[in-house]
Amino acid sequence: MSQLVPSRQRKVLVVEDNELNCKLLEVRLEIHGYEAVTTSEGAAALDIAREQQPDLILMDIQLPDISGIEAIRRLKADEQTRAIPIIAVTAFAMSYEKAVILASGCEAYLTKPFSGEELAELMERYTGRHATS
Ligand code: MN
Repeated sequence: MSQLVPSRQRKVLVVEDNELNCKLLEVRLEIHGYEAVTTSEGAAALDIAREQQPDLILMDIQLPDISGIEAIRRLKADEQTRAIPIIAVTAFAMSYEKAVILASGCEAYLTKPFSGEELAELMERYTGRHATS
C-alpha cells in the first residue's frame, strides 16, 4: 500500500547525453524543488518512465541511441507512459525541425540556450505546480 504524502515532491526524468548539460539541469531542478532522475539514453528513458512514472520528462533530441523524437513517439504510443508530459530540449532552431519535434507528440519544447526562468515556468505549467517562492 502506498502512503499518503501531504505535499509530494514532483519527479522529473531528464534524458540528456551531454554530461555537463545533464548536471546543470539536475541542479536547476533541485533548486526549484523537484526530484531529478537522469539517463543519457533514449531507450533507457522508456523503461525508467514505465517504472518510475515521473511527473514530467525533459527530453534532449540528439541522443546516442534512439533519437529523442523516436523516444517521444514510443512514450506517447505506450498507454503506461502516454499521459506523462514531455518537454523536448533541443539545439535545433529551424522551423521545419520544430514542426517535426512537435509532431512527435511532446507537449512543449525548449530551444537551447534557455534561462532557468523559462525552464521553471514550463515545468510548473506541465506539473500543475504553483511557484512557492
Ligand atoms: Mn544530446
